[in-house]
Order: sequence, then C-alpha cells, then structure tokens
Amino acid sequence: MVGLDEEEVSVIRNEVLTYAAANGLLMLAASGEVGLVHVPVSLLPAMAVPRKLFEEVRGLAEPFNALVERLAGDPGVIRETLAAAAKQDDFTKSLLDIYTRVLGGPRPDVARKNLAVNRSDYMMDEASQSLLQVELNTISSSFGAQSTVMAQMHKQVLGKFDFLSEGGSGGWFGGEALPDCLESCVPYEDTIGDIVQAFATAVAEYSKSRDSVDAGFDSKSAVVLMVVQDDERNIMDQQILEQELWKRHKVRMVRKTLKEIRDEAVLDGADGILRLASGQEVAVSYLRAGYSPMDYKTDAEWDARLTLEQSQAFKCPSIAYQLVGSKKVQQYLAEDGVLEKFLDSEEDCRNLRKCFASLWALDDPEEPQTKQVIEHAKMNPHLYVLKPQREGGGNNLYDGDLVKALEEEPDLSAYILMQRIVAPIRKSFLLRNGECVEADTLSELGIYGVYLSDNGREIINQCSGALVRTKLASSNEGGVTAGFACLSTPLLH
Ligand code: ADP
Ligand code: MG
Ligand code: MG
Repeated sequence: MVGLDEEEVSVIRNEVLTYAAANGLLMLAASGEVGLVHVPVSLLPAMAVPRKLFEEVRGLAEPFNALVERLAGDPGVIRETLAAAAKQDDFTKSLLDIYTRVLGGPRPDVARKNLAVNRSDYMMDEASQSLLQVELNTISSSFGAQSTVMAQMHKQVLGKFDFLSEGGSGGWFGGEALPDCLESCVPYEDTIGDIVQAFATAVAEYSKSRDSVDAGFDSKSAVVLMVVQDDERNIMDQQILEQELWKRHKVRMVRKTLKEIRDEAVLDGADGILRLASGQEVAVSYLRAGYSPMDYKTDAEWDARLTLEQSQAFKCPSIAYQLVGSKKVQQYLAEDGVLEKFLDSEEDCRNLRKCFASLWALDDPEEPQTKQVIEHAKMNPHLYVLKPQREGGGNNLYDGDLVKALEEEPDLSAYILMQRIVAPIRKSFLLRNGECVEADTLSELGIYGVYLSDNGREIINQCSGALVRTKLASSNEGGVTAGFACLSTPLLH
C-alpha cells in the first residue's frame, strides 16, 4: 500500500465509517435490501489539484452562472441550437415543447424566475496540465450537501492522524510536496449553507410579491417543493438540505414526485399560484428529478412539469436552464465567437474558453470538417467521447461503441463528439459497502455555482464549494449513485 500500513488504513477506515454514519454520508441500501448504507467514499483526498488551477476554475463559477442566465433569456438561440437534435431525439423535443408552451401561455414572465445550483465538472488533462470542463450541470446537480460533509470529514482525518504527515507529508499521496498542516490542503466552503440561503431568499422574494397583492397571504404557507424520483437512493444528500433549510431559515420543504404533483397540486391559471393539497404554496420548485426520459413514464409527468413551469414559483431549474445545460448547447458555446455574444467581459470569455475541450457538432456529416473528424474518430476512438443529449451518467459511448454509432447511426444530430480528456491515474483507497480496496483511480472536480434572479434582476451569483468524484481508472463513467464512483475531495498543493 502506498505509504500506509494495514493498521493505519484500518484506523482511517473506522474513523471514516463512524463519521459517515454520524454526519449523513448515507444513502438507501440497494433495492431489495432495507436500511441505509454509507455513500461510497475515498478514505483520503483522491485528487491533487494545483492551488492556482483550483482558484481559476472557482473564478469561472460566476461567469458560467451569468452565461446560463443570458442564454436562457434568448429563446431564439435555444430553439435554433436544439432544432436538429429535437428532430432526432424525442426527449429534447418534449422539453422544447414545454418551453414553447410556457412562453406562449398566459404568464410568459414566470419563465424567468430562476434559481440555480449549477455544477461545472472538470478533469485534469494530463497533456496540458490544465483543468478541462467535462460538462456544466444545470439540473439536479447532486452532492452539494454531502460534498460539504466530505470536506469536513477529510479535514478531520488529515488533522487527527499524525502518521499521515510523518515521514515526509504526502507519502500516501504519491510524494507531492505538501505543507505540514495537511488539513489546510482540503478547501472548505459551506455549500449547504449557500444553497439553503438561496432557497430562503427566493421564498422571501416570492412572499414579498404575494404580500403586495393579497392581504390574506400567510408567508408560513410558502414552501420549497423538492421534486424527487420515486426510486431515489441518494436521499440523504437531499434531506440534509431539508433539515438545514428549516434549522437556519425556518422554511419548510416538501418532497413530491412528478406523478404526485400532477395528482395533488393545483395551478391557478390567472395568477400562476401553485397550491398543494395541504394548502401550501410552492415558492420554489427544486428538481432532483426530471432530467431523464425515465422520469416521464406517462403524460402525467409531462403535465406536472408544465404545471411547475407555468407557476409563479422560482424554478431550480427552469426548463430554459435545463435546455441550456444540454450537451448540444455546450458544444455550441465552444464555437468561435459565441461566448462573446452573451458576455460583455472579454476577460470572462477568455477565461471560460481556456477550460473548453474540443467539441464537434455532428449535424451535417457531409460538411468537410465534420467528415474529417468523424473519419479520425473512427480510426482513433480512444481520443474521443460520443455524447447523446442525456444527463445522469452511463449514456456516453466510447471505443468500439463509438465507432459502431458513427458507422451505423443514420442521423447523429442529437450527439456531440468530444475530445477525450486523459487524466492522471492515482492510487486511492476506496470504501464501498464497508470494504476498503486500494485501486488505480481517476477523479473529476465539480465546482458549484449558486444563482438567483427574477426577470433579469440578479439577486445572488456566487461560487460555492467543490466536489470530487473518484472512479476506478478502468471505468469510463463516473456516477456515484449509479455505482461507478466514490465521493472524495481535492487536495490543493
Ligand atoms: P452526464 O451528464 O451523464 O454526467 P458527462 O458529460 O458528465 O455526462 O459524462 C459522464 C462521465 O463520462 C463523466 O463523469 C466522465 O467520467 C466521463 N466523461 C465525459 N466526458 C469525458 C471526456 N471528454 N473525457 C473523458 N471522460 C469523459
Ligand atoms: Mg450532467
Ligand atoms: Mg456528469
């Protein structure tokens, strides 16, 4: 084992298991089993990040938030960018239909009540020694709560066990030169606090506008509605937010599936007030569902989504934000001159562009550049990733599957081709179901951005903390709940 003996690993494992249980690093056991299990985690920080690069990507969170808001306010661009994909992909088409119906409905103004918990994900590109963006998540960005707990846990472990810094600090970390105070190498921000502060501020904004028109309005009735999947395992990351929202702001959160919303919630068409059967009013809809076609098994779920979008509630996210977070829009943003159309600051454009990997549209396979890259990818599939218009992990195509799709799919407009980011492999201790293994791993860094705006009036725009997900180097995909990856933290050096 790298720099640690069996006894030392066992001591850390016990500390981590206890900390996880005591502080909510938990999720529901797999279907068929009862109870809670710990979230898969790495025993120690698994990703080395130069402090300068970390600060650089933190600095991108605010401009990315602003960029999403600008794009979301431009229906023409959204429709144009997604038109070809929507012809091929029913899910994209259905989302666009909802968007069109909201804008064409009685209260188009409600489409721009935006709350965002964005998370921009990066991998370290070994060749250029820079952090390149994998994607920008605008819907259901998970682990905001548990990443905060992870940072606290790894700080505690690094501070508590002297053997981790003895014999040249970082012996267990591949020999990086680290300061004596190892604890200070794990960055900490209160992502939980920032997210619930944004929820509470949105509820206060909602209540202020309701108060001004309805003397009978009771602010206690305004709630945050968390829209959830009925088979969700990752409940604790969500419930920490529910608990903290009450503890810190005395604001209630209610959990419902799209189906339950369709059955129970009533939208007042004239004023856009969405009421639950309890009489509570939805001030914020917070989607931890609705990003995958699996979340819309029948028309009932689509009806519910339309209802949410047509309400006066702040939407986290709105359908426009969800569309802006799509892979197709990511590829469009990387085209020459596009960022400049949406952001005033040249410096912001330069900084954002620096983190873009190479991306290609596949709408027109006869276009010379597209033809060329498709041919190159068929010959060198290990240099590329083929991505459909999907979220939630497990959807991308690699290697042989990528070649097959490029050769056989008649229409690739709903896919984008992306440069494969080759990240450094590092040995880490991964803990899953109580069992610890030492393995070759790859890591992905997520940076959260929290944003709140009402019809273009910016109320909150901030960077809010980091998350690392670490997977076996032999696995292509990285979802934690999907079983591919472990939660971890960055170690700054
Ligand atoms: P999703 O929205 O499904 O999470 P991602 O774009 O994040 O889609 O892709 C899922 C996973 O695939 C990532 O977490 C990462 O592990 C891997 N991946 C995605 N894009 C790349 C890339 N360009 N290079 C290397 N790995 C990638
Ligand atoms: Mg995603
Ligand atoms: Mg992802």
